[in-house]
Amino acid sequence: MYQVQSHFDTPWYVVHCTWYKNMKPTLIIGGGIVGLFSAYFLQKEGIEVQVIDKGDMQQNCSTGNAGMIVPSHIIPLAAPGMISKGISWMFSSKSPFYIQPRLDAKLLSWCLQFYRAATPAHVERSIPFLKNLSLLSKSLYQELRDEHPESQLALAEKGLMMIYQTESIEKEETEFAHIARKHGLEADILSPEDIRAIEPNLEVRARGAVRFPGDAHLDPGKLYSFLKTYLLEKGVKFLPQTAVTGFEKNGNHISAVLTDQGKIPAEKIILCGGSWSGELAKMLQFNLPMMGGKGYSFLQENKPEIQQAAILTEQKVAVSPYGSQIRFGGTMEIAGTNEKINLNRVKGIFESINRYYPSFESKFPEENKIWKGLRPCSPDGLPYLGFAPTYSNVLVNTGHSMMGVSLAPASGKLIAELHQQKDSSLEIAGFEPGRYHSYK
Ligand SMILES: Cc1cc2nc3c(=O)[nH]c(=O)nc-3n(C[C@H](O)[C@H](O)[C@H](O)COP(=O)(O)OP(=O)(O)OC[C@H]3O[C@@H](n4cnc5c(N)ncnc54)[C@H](O)[C@@H]3O)c2cc1C
Repeated sequence: MYQVQSHFDTPWYVVHCTWYKNMKPTLIIGGGIVGLFSAYFLQKEGIEVQVIDKGDMQQNCSTGNAGMIVPSHIIPLAAPGMISKGISWMFSSKSPFYIQPRLDAKLLSWCLQFYRAATPAHVERSIPFLKNLSLLSKSLYQELRDEHPESQLALAEKGLMMIYQTESIEKEETEFAHIARKHGLEADILSPEDIRAIEPNLEVRARGAVRFPGDAHLDPGKLYSFLKTYLLEKGVKFLPQTAVTGFEKNGNHISAVLTDQGKIPAEKIILCGGSWSGELAKMLQFNLPMMGGKGYSFLQENKPEIQQAAILTEQKVAVSPYGSQIRFGGTMEIAGTNEKINLNRVKGIFESINRYYPSFESKFPEENKIWKGLRPCSPDGLPYLGFAPTYSNVLVNTGHSMMGVSLAPASGKLIAELHQQKDSSLEIAGFEPGRYHSYK
């Protein structure tokens, strides 16, 4: 232990360094985008941080997603209409949403919680929280780009176009545009002629679209590599290939994390385990319902060039152009933590391309070029952000579902504020990690 008396003759900076060395670090469990942004804001506070990950920190859900930053996405996944839509989609192997029917108590309980959350009141309550989190994130991305031009984030502030082909989805999307406007967001309803002006290089087969000019997109792989390099330079320690297997407890305090590589003492712990966070919570004996929502993406040569980031709404396929390359991604298969590739679902994404862009020169990707990721989905569609129930030094930052990239900077900043007991930049009531703790 640091003793003040023993340093009376020592210069202040040596005292400071000795004290610093004797401090146990804050351990972040999970080196996805949420873990890295938590580390980013903690190191800015001068906190010693270590990031542990069971994987290699080269490929995870944060590296090959569509990279969209979407303040327009203010409606949580758990919303009225999703249940009936989900059921109708379940009978097609190429549909955008799928739950393989199976007798799994965890899955059944998650579905029941989803069903209970999918109410108009829940949506109304969630909108301001999600909107503010997303808007804060977008401004933090702009700051990051301006502070670090070397990051090459490819942050494209060109909006997002929700393209539709059917009358029923047109009705949904335009209703959604009105809700977004009511909440102060810009939303333009576009005719096929307007779409042609935005996408001059090729035909877009569409009845119309809603465009959200405030949305943006970036290259998630570049963002992830930049953050890793930057954090390493700032002294953050990474421990890849290190799986957390348990915790050493002292009453309501965790003193160390047990891993397959040995014991790591910790001052504070932040759970950022993505789709595996429910398992980590179980080791700490609290209930954090979580399901992995499996999705896929692949890159193509962008020919003829698509310029506008878009979502092909009937198929829920995301389109993220990066100049000469373009990424198509989609499908949501409630999969627990099963990471196997289901080629039929990839075909579903692939076939959507020419359905909307008939002249695009699409080529089915080789299997080793297909990226997969598990979106960490809470049953009410909201992240878990705050202190873990019953523990004094465990924080939780996970469950961002299909918006992890979009929300990670803001939730990283907020978790650092909680860690430092500072005033919160935003209201976070509603994101409590303990909200399902006593759920039966
Ligand atoms: C097809 C697709 C498209 C998407 N598009 C977008 C988009 O356009 N915009 C957007 O905002 N989001 C998008 N997402 C969602 C986004 O990718 C996720 O929300 C985000 O990556 C989740 O980040 P994370 O850090 O929480 O989890 P992860 O990236 O999964 O990281 C969690 C980490 O925890 C580690 N871990 C787990 N358990 C342990 C343990 N016991 N010990 C040690 N380590 C552990 C894992 O190895 C993993 O690396 C998309 C997702 C998919 C699948």
